[in-house]
Amino acid sequence: MAVHYDLFVIGAGSGGVRAARMAAAAGQRVGIAEEYRVGGTCVIRGCVPKKLFVYASHYMEEFRDAAGFGHTVGETSFSWPTLIANKDKEIDRLNGIYLRNLENSGVVVHHSRAEFKDPHTLVLTQTGEEVTADTILIATGGAPTKPTDIDGGEHTITSNEAFHLEELPKRVIVVGGGYIAVEFAGIFNGLGSQTSLIYRKDRVLRGFDDDVRALLNESLVERGIDLHLHSTIKKIEKIDTGLKATLNTGDVIEADVIMCATGRKALTDGLGCDKAGVELAPNGAVIVDDYSRTNVDHIWAVGDVTDRVQLTPVAIKEGMAFVDTVYRNIPTKPDHMLIPTAVFSQPQIGTVGMTEEEAMAASNGALDVFKSTFRPMKATLSGNPEKMLMKILVDRNNDKVLGVHIVGPESGEMIQCVGIAVKMGATKAEFDSTVAVHPTAAEELVTMREPTIRHNFEEAAE
Ligand code: NDP
Repeated sequence: MAVHYDLFVIGAGSGGVRAARMAAAAGQRVGIAEEYRVGGTCVIRGCVPKKLFVYASHYMEEFRDAAGFGHTVGETSFSWPTLIANKDKEIDRLNGIYLRNLENSGVVVHHSRAEFKDPHTLVLTQTGEEVTADTILIATGGAPTKPTDIDGGEHTITSNEAFHLEELPKRVIVVGGGYIAVEFAGIFNGLGSQTSLIYRKDRVLRGFDDDVRALLNESLVERGIDLHLHSTIKKIEKIDTGLKATLNTGDVIEADVIMCATGRKALTDGLGCDKAGVELAPNGAVIVDDYSRTNVDHIWAVGDVTDRVQLTPVAIKEGMAFVDTVYRNIPTKPDHMLIPTAVFSQPQIGTVGMTEEEAMAASNGALDVFKSTFRPMKATLSGNPEKMLMKILVDRNNDKVLGVHIVGPESGEMIQCVGIAVKMGATKAEFDSTVAVHPTAAEELVTMREPTIRHNFEEAAE
């Protein structure tokens, strides 16, 4: 007889684990299936190992910067195998914690892929065992995709494999201009690989504020990344010395590794959603309502598999909202407004709220832009040419801060705090009434008095 659960969760990533644990804490009998490793993309092959790589890639710059402060750093060397081994050890530790947390909450963990057999039954493919559940939560996440039109595309890797390369590539090409592309270009470049970034449009990070994009583009080039805009790879050939990529522009670049960071796709292939009657969007994402419920009453979905906002903390919030709605009798729509986010590019980016373009529309042109570009204090002695940007967008109709954008050291940390104020609906006057913390870069956020640009209605109408 199939084991029966109150709730069965497919996928033990950020969203699935949170929902499973909280549902178990609410007294439900919960099972969860994971085909790879408990922890999901974020812990196993995403945010966490990526951030460890980012830390590693900053040291060479720090060694250089140290000279201006009187330090003589002797000859240094870097061991990729040491970084990988230490990273793997840390990921194993976190994987263990996730697993123990699930088990300690009373959740039954099945180390297997799960596929729908019918709306209430799942097959655990590892053993062929079947389980049934009153409620099912799909939390299978997403996976990297590659362009399908590269001749020789099979020679490329994605971020999944980048975490396990046996050696640091001497020459690397990163394809794409999103979060993952700019973060990995920074990592490889910082670690000393000769790095090319190939992006198909005019500026990386489409969707971010234009000033942020401009400064990042400039910084990528200043840091020595070979940036190819309006470019795509047409052909990749294996040659004696590695790989040879031919671009649409006719440029030819040789590399040891070519990594595609060209977006991620919801993981629903082979899941059997059709057998459960669950509707999918054309891109494979599970379609859900505002509460994360699918078109089938007892089947819900959270996280990247729903392709709403592909961010770990969002998946966690969606998992919590699901438990509140279904098991705590507190109907909760996950809130997708004003999500602060950081890009761990070099320089780092922190952003919350609207871009200037969006804020123009929202304020009907009554928009004040406060902008400051400066060299961080540390750069005065280190000689590092890096610039920092702080930008605040204010609706003149009601003085509300609509967006804050920061580029520079620690901007990820800063935006978390600023995000609270923006989420609370803070006005510029409230920012200004806050005493500056001196000497910091962040004090600029409360000391910019005069708008750099005062937009007007006519511009918004153009
Ligand atoms: P993104 O969607 O952010 O970026 C994909 C990039 O690839 C875009 O620049 C896109 O170009 C380009 N692209 C797409 N298809 C092709 C193609 N066929 N040929 C060439 N270029 C192509 O995806 P990522 O993979 O970078 O990241 C996925 C998501 O993961 C992010 O959206 C983010 O939500 C999350 N993430 C968050 C991080 C964080 O919080 N720090 C870190 C890493 C990931 P175009 O702009 O023209 O569409």
